[in-house]
Amino acid sequence: MTSSNATLQGADAVLDPANPFATPSALPYELPDFAAIREEHHEPAIVAGMAAHRAEVEAIATNPEPATVENTLEALERAGQLLGRAATAFYNQLPADSTPGLEDIQERIAPQLAAHQDAIGMDARLYARVKSLADAAEAGTLALEPDTAYLLEKQLTRFERAGIALSEADQATLRDLNSRITSLQASFGRKLLAGANEASVLVTDESELAGLSPDAKAGARAAAEARGQDGWLLEMQLFTHQNVLASLEDAGLRARVQEASAARGATGGENDTREVLLELARLRAQHARLLGYEHHAAYIAADATAGTTDAVNQMLARLAPAAVANARREATELAKVGGAAPGTVAAADWSYLNEAVRKERFNLDDAALRPYLELERIVHDGVFKAANLLFGLSFTERADLPGYHPDVRVFEVFDAPEPGEPNTGLGLFLADWYTRESKRGGAWMDSLVSQSHLLGRRPVVVNNLNIVKPPAGEPTLLVWDEVTTLFHEFGHALHGLLSDVRYPSQSGTSVPRDFVEYPSQVNEMWSWEPEILRSFAVHHRTGEPMPAEWVDTMLASRIWGEGFATTEYLAAALLDQAWHQLTPEQVPTSVEEVLPFEAAALAAAGVDFESVPPRYRTTYFNHIFGGGYSAGYYSYIWSEVLDADTVEWYAENGGLTRENGEAFRRKLLARGGSQDPLTSFEDLRGRTADIAPLLKRRGLA
Ligand SMILES: [Zn+2]
Repeated sequence: MTSSNATLQGADAVLDPANPFATPSALPYELPDFAAIREEHHEPAIVAGMAAHRAEVEAIATNPEPATVENTLEALERAGQLLGRAATAFYNQLPADSTPGLEDIQERIAPQLAAHQDAIGMDARLYARVKSLADAAEAGTLALEPDTAYLLEKQLTRFERAGIALSEADQATLRDLNSRITSLQASFGRKLLAGANEASVLVTDESELAGLSPDAKAGARAAAEARGQDGWLLEMQLFTHQNVLASLEDAGLRARVQEASAARGATGGENDTREVLLELARLRAQHARLLGYEHHAAYIAADATAGTTDAVNQMLARLAPAAVANARREATELAKVGGAAPGTVAAADWSYLNEAVRKERFNLDDAALRPYLELERIVHDGVFKAANLLFGLSFTERADLPGYHPDVRVFEVFDAPEPGEPNTGLGLFLADWYTRESKRGGAWMDSLVSQSHLLGRRPVVVNNLNIVKPPAGEPTLLVWDEVTTLFHEFGHALHGLLSDVRYPSQSGTSVPRDFVEYPSQVNEMWSWEPEILRSFAVHHRTGEPMPAEWVDTMLASRIWGEGFATTEYLAAALLDQAWHQLTPEQVPTSVEEVLPFEAAALAAAGVDFESVPPRYRTTYFNHIFGGGYSAGYYSYIWSEVLDADTVEWYAENGGLTRENGEAFRRKLLARGGSQDPLTSFEDLRGRTADIAPLLKRRGLA
């Protein structure tokens, strides 16, 4: 689609000036005026925002002046502010505090927003202007600042990856492929959900449930009742290895659960996913070929920091043998405990035996730890304190600024004051820690205002967690995983808060998927730092520090189980690559070939260890076939290589110091997506990433 006449209709959509999104918020840092925003404000603001954006883009595209950085690149960066304000607030609210009304709005606007982005991404006039700048830069007649040159390169790539340079016939084919891929992904997801219900294991003999906690048992009872069945229904979680396997004492039932889990999507009938996934693999390969890539994985890697599938393959190949060797060592230990012959631990028995080993060796009890892990202390004397010691930041709660929900806390963030200068503030940090029915699961960071010198904006970021709220007046006590999550999400927040870039599209966390987890993973290290840990791990009533031997045990228990965890993760990441490194002709044509292909791929990668099956098998790998993570499942460990190497860098340079924090801030966090993120990493580290620290951390070296 190259003409934008059709998309111009509606450009006269007028937004009620009383709508809180109509003008930039007058609150500090342009914090959205949540007290004024009501459900009915979102949709008209987003619709009017798209119209305004189209009109702005049209003006850029039809500008009679030759393209310049100012009238094209910068103008595109400035365009769409109403849409940005409205959509950002909406997509922050939707997962954090949803309502049926917001869900309805999402149903209506998601396709419109996708079409809106497509229309801009396929506007040949815009592309011609961007291309003329790139040509001039290449010819040496246009000198660019490094961040502008990088922006130009990314803009050009964005157009080309959307297919702008193709013939009209090929563009039509591409659009057709895109829409078929989208609907096949949805179909995969639907079959998976239905198949998971079908795979639930019904237990009618209560004695088989020995070992299951009363909560889990009650849940299974309710699940059976909900479907009008007698007994207890064990429902499937998405991954292969079901959590109930850790507690079920009955080996026969464990085997049934494992079998049902691993068979999902390949049982024949309506919920079999094999035909859909083969079609998806083929269409994605065709899509990649049309755009000039060897296969889909190459298309994905090209836009990530990995760059090529060779780089991804090399990293995975380097880890796989060590991970499997480690898992085999763990299997030997488990077999001893279980009284089985070495090497004969069944996948179904793994976590049951593993629990026995953990209890015997580590004897860590969450209930005993919790009184030492109180939320306010962890935030102020842990998370904020680390940010203060590293970056000089300080935090002042702003009870006068309301969030989007009464539970949201707003903190103003200040930089270390410069002598003789007023301390005007760096940005806002919103914390939404508690779980509620209207919030989706998990933990995440969001940007409400992206830092940008071009737009004169300071950052406003949010962290969301799902901590259970205690009764009024009671302290919020955490488990260790939640402590790490607090530090992790705050690492993302720091990436947004310490951003120091010109262009909003390069701000903070606007980096590729295989890089974005890196700063947040690094920030987790401070939860373990003795100085920080001693400061926050204090009994909430007695003020006693956590016993030192517990800390040692926690540290020691970190390595145990890494063989299993790394192997099941790598097996899934390798399967993802195997399916997406096929050309259209190489994709199997018969559903009968799916499982043999999977087996061959695992064997070729050396991760075919039966005791530790992939975290997701092909036929229920929702990340890659049901959604947008195709050929990208490697990202988690890719980021972790950088993370572990950075932890090593801190250690080599004296750990928790202002000097180190300053270097990490200036060379890495502040740069956001204003240059190749791996260049930022290399600036910091003085060399390319080394995988050895990760191998050591995961007990693989
Ligand atoms: Zn994260």
